Amino acid sequence: TGRNQLGIFEAGISQSSEMENLQKIIQPGIGVFTNIGEAHNENFLNVRQKVKEKLRLFNDVEVLIYRKDYSVVHEAIISILPELNRNRIQRLTLMDWSSAADATIQVTKLSKNETGTTIDLKYKDEKHRFSISFTDEASIENAIHCWCVLAHLGIESEFVRKNMLLLEPVAMRLELKQGVNHCSIINDSYSADLNSLVIALDFLAQQHQHPKRTLILSDILESGKTEKELYEEVATALTQRRIDRLIAIGDRIGMHQSTFNKVAGLATRYYKSVDEFKKDLPQLVFRDETILLKGARIFEFEQIDRILEQQVHQTVLEVNLSALVHNFKQYQQQLNKGTKLMAMVKAFAYGSGSFEIARVLEYYKADYLGVAYADEGVELRKAGITLPIMILNIDESGFDAIVQFNLEPVMFSVGMLKSFHAYLRKQGIQEFPVHLEVETGMNRLGISLSELAQISSVIKSGVLTIQSVFSHLAASEDAKQDSFTTVQAEQFRAISSQLKEMIPYKFLQHISNSSGVSRHPSLQFDMVRLGIGLHGIDPDRSDLQEVSTLKSTIAQIKYLKAGETVSYGRRGVVLRDSVIATVRIGYADGYPASLGIGVGKMMVKGVEAPIIGKVCMDMTMIDVTEIAEVSENDEVIVFGSGLPVTRVAEWANTIPYEILSGVSQRVKRLYFEQ
Ligand SMILES: *Cc1c(COP(=O)(O)O)cnc(C)c1O
Repeated sequence: TGRNQLGIFEAGISQSSEMENLQKIIQPGIGVFTNIGEAHNENFLNVRQKVKEKLRLFNDVEVLIYRKDYSVVHEAIISILPELNRNRIQRLTLMDWSSAADATIQVTKLSKNETGTTIDLKYKDEKHRFSISFTDEASIENAIHCWCVLAHLGIESEFVRKNMLLLEPVAMRLELKQGVNHCSIINDSYSADLNSLVIALDFLAQQHQHPKRTLILSDILESGKTEKELYEEVATALTQRRIDRLIAIGDRIGMHQSTFNKVAGLATRYYKSVDEFKKDLPQLVFRDETILLKGARIFEFEQIDRILEQQVHQTVLEVNLSALVHNFKQYQQQLNKGTKLMAMVKAFAYGSGSFEIARVLEYYKADYLGVAYADEGVELRKAGITLPIMILNIDESGFDAIVQFNLEPVMFSVGMLKSFHAYLRKQGIQEFPVHLEVETGMNRLGISLSELAQISSVIKSGVLTIQSVFSHLAASEDAKQDSFTTVQAEQFRAISSQLKEMIPYKFLQHISNSSGVSRHPSLQFDMVRLGIGLHGIDPDRSDLQEVSTLKSTIAQIKYLKAGETVSYGRRGVVLRDSVIATVRIGYADGYPASLGIGVGKMMVKGVEAPIIGKVCMDMTMIDVTEIAEVSENDEVIVFGSGLPVTRVAEWANTIPYEILSGVSQRVKRLYFEQ
């Protein structure tokens, strides 16, 4: 339904007799013949026959609008005209347009500049001019068709002129939407023929907001050409428009890889189906690029659209894997030759993910992984991680999984050691790798010096292999506690040397965590255990990069008068007329409730906005009065780039570990490399 009780019907055609039936149902009064696509050619002898068939829809129209430059269309209309005029009282009015002088409507001039196109027309000896804010061919053609319809309807030309200028690109079929990771998405999956692909590619090529252009394309069905010709034409179109990446989905297009290989600079990926593409998503990076989706309907590209677009309206934790690798290397450089590195990936790698992070660390040659519980280790194994994995905190219910998945548990107490030893013995297992945690002052887990005598026989039995002996520093980051750290180290050396006498083979020794590496180079021993530092957090150094950024969006903006209040308990009082934005994040996402009522801030457009009122379960309100031009769906940085998590932790009177690992699992993790 169009405006002013104008019924608008857009008809495609796929087979003969379809139009005649449609004509009876719709009985259109105005016909606009835009152009003829190349799809569905199989069912017609040639394009001309197809045009004629389509014209049947216009059997009874009073006016037929078309572009005369399309000769197939024009000639078909002329040849069918006598037939169309038969049995009519009034002859059919043709409103054909062209730059040629013999057209009913002559386009006398087209002038384009950065802001749009101005079109000069001559119609019934009168001159007209209007402008639109587009410069692409498809938009210009559409605008002229529209102008013709409006002229026919007798709409005042000044009104038309004014409103033409107001047309916005969002109304177009080729809509540019914000996607994940600063991508822009054009979803043109309404049709998938060569013509419309070329138009969409033009539109894609005009987008300069991102350095990279990606096309996700399905098989093109029923083109009437041989597949070879068809995909060669697609390849040419990609070359001309400098497309950087092609993600091809479908059985047919995948057969033409050699054609696409010839396109210089084109990266390609092929998938048989959208499902296969979805499975591979974790490996695909979409970042800062314009993505065109062009898929035949049966491929259901809506699914891809949803994935690429979705997160805009959600809260996401963006994890910069390149920054992680950078931090890893910064620590690695500081290690003595031969010192091994264990990456601590417990609690979903401090909230940033599990196997996604472990896989990167494995690739960059971490020597060991450390997790808290057996379940976490099992998950990594199931994801194909093969590095040795130390489990910090086991209990008897995890013994089976430990053995089955080849995980290396920490023996942190005499009781645990004895019970795991008994379990292994019953199973007839020998030399199972374990680690011994010893107590040096943290007083959390660990076997103390005085208990060593009790474990001697178990250790010598040959059922267990002690891979390493380790302890944990209680205050490695704190200069005021350095003397205590030294005491811990001495205690560790003392226990280790006793164990060396008990254990006839070599084992690793380790005690340092991230700040231990940064602040106590002499305590590296054989291995270090890096956790928080990998995420860019270490107050003693400036060479690290922030890895995780928690982002959300604005759901609504409210304009409040002085004296009104915000959120539960009416604790957020507006002291002046204010602009308040509701952000899609709350304490259920892991955002601390303690940041409410003016304690914390979030960042919008690079400016910090204080929280007003209490933090709710799924939402938090911020005061954006001081920030210019904030709109709904704008991005909000909760922490991360520009707003370090350490600051947010300070506001919340806690440590960054808690903020990072507290980001709830309902928040999507998004990985990217830079
Ligand atoms: C978590 C943990 C680490 C890592 O500590 P960071 O301060 O994050 O580097 C090291 N060792 C043990 C035993 C841990 O539990």
